[in-house]
Amino acid sequence: MKTIVIGGGVVGVTTAYYLAREGHEVTVLEKLNDVGQDASGGNAGLIAPGHSFAWASPAAPKMLLKSLMGEATAIRLKLRPDPRLIWWGLQFLRECTSERARINTLIKMQLCAYSQKELDKLAAEESIDYHQVQRGAFYLYREERELELGMAKMELLRSHGMEMELVSAEELAQHDPAFTSAKGIVAGAIRCTTDASGNCEKFTKTLAERCRKLGVEFRFNTTAKRLLKSGNRVTGVETDQGTFVADNFVLANGIYSPHLSRTVGQRLPIYPAKGYSITVPIADPKAAPTVPGVDEKTLVAWSRMGDHLRMSSTAEFSGYSRTWKHSDLSNILRTGRELFPNAANWDEVSARACLRPMTPDGPPIIGRGKHENLYYNTGHGHMGWTMACGSSRVLVDLMMGRRPAIDTTGMHVRSIRR
Ligand SMILES: Cc1cc2nc3c(=O)[nH]c(=O)nc-3n(C[C@H](O)[C@H](O)[C@H](O)COP(=O)(O)OP(=O)(O)OC[C@H]3O[C@@H](n4cnc5c(N)ncnc54)[C@H](O)[C@@H]3O)c2cc1C
Repeated sequence: MKTIVIGGGVVGVTTAYYLAREGHEVTVLEKLNDVGQDASGGNAGLIAPGHSFAWASPAAPKMLLKSLMGEATAIRLKLRPDPRLIWWGLQFLRECTSERARINTLIKMQLCAYSQKELDKLAAEESIDYHQVQRGAFYLYREERELELGMAKMELLRSHGMEMELVSAEELAQHDPAFTSAKGIVAGAIRCTTDASGNCEKFTKTLAERCRKLGVEFRFNTTAKRLLKSGNRVTGVETDQGTFVADNFVLANGIYSPHLSRTVGQRLPIYPAKGYSITVPIADPKAAPTVPGVDEKTLVAWSRMGDHLRMSSTAEFSGYSRTWKHSDLSNILRTGRELFPNAANWDEVSARACLRPMTPDGPPIIGRGKHENLYYNTGHGHMGWTMACGSSRVLVDLMMGRRPAIDTTGMHVRSIRR
């Protein structure tokens, strides 16, 4: 069985790996010159079912409105005459009820938790070192009242099996001395004890090596332009390097999946949400956090990646541009300097903008659409590193005619929801 996977991010490479293990002859088409370079290369590194909350919530429309009025909100909207943004935005707004937010969060949490187990299993079986840190994650709150509200919000995850504990500002430093400086700044934290972190790009690159041993072929600098079809079957993919044919095709090309699916008449509700991310060499290992986390006030996330610290923030709906200005980093740098002043030389960071492939409701799109041999594994939004192994395991189970280990309600191919 010959299968082409389009996209060499963490989702495409994990898909290729599980398919190869099932005996598929797999080719990965990737437009860049290596795997794991796009969103998979710039993320914050959290492997965090504790961070599963859907972005579409009753609070989101107000935040978007404030951002339109110029306030520096965590989720920002730059209005532009883009029919895709309007179509996507209307669906997003429909998901902003408390009931939809609850359902979407639980779908994501289930997938995240399953995925984390599959990641652990895969990494152990293939002896993959990806700078993993398995010491829980801190969700930091700067005010007592916010901490109380945070606990109330977390109750949804806790009551569905997520293990967590309340940690005082004093106790933070006992868990990880790098938080000593944060003592005067934060009121405390919620620690999700099973959350973790790791370097997604390193994982993806190492897994690609294991894939090669299983016979997977990687075609780099190859951009898929158009799918070719006959009836309800896809017959090939036209690229700038020629046409490739196969028995099955998997779309795992993140933010660009809707562009390709549209060439065979399938609309996908995925739109990019830009985030900014910095990587900085650690100057003093004791002053740099080992435990990953999120500052719930500034919504900056961090994780340690070997001798570097990665921090990221912001979700900006402003199209496909990856440009950034120094002022876009100020929230991250301020948070870094406040929480971990001696961890790094904060004037010497490398920075980038990258784009999350967001669905309006939050869960990714996994499975088949209207074509019998075209599969989707895309739209993983702000949690794709956490969800990758589980999503790919689910997709490959579906492709092999097996029932996946988790309920896939809410993850099916959808052009417009309900
Ligand atoms: C700032 C930021 C912070 C984040 N933090 C976290 C976090 O802490 N934890 C977490 O779990 N997730 C996080 N995420 C989300 C996570 O990074 C993504 O969901 C995940 O990387 C998506 O993986 P992917 O393989 O689908 O996409 P990508 O990594 O973007 O890969 C898609 C690949 O497809 C290729 N491609 C696209 N079009 C074509 C084409 N036509 N032909 C050939 N190749 C093509 C691209 O070049 C790319 O390599 C974050 C994302 C961002 C942006």
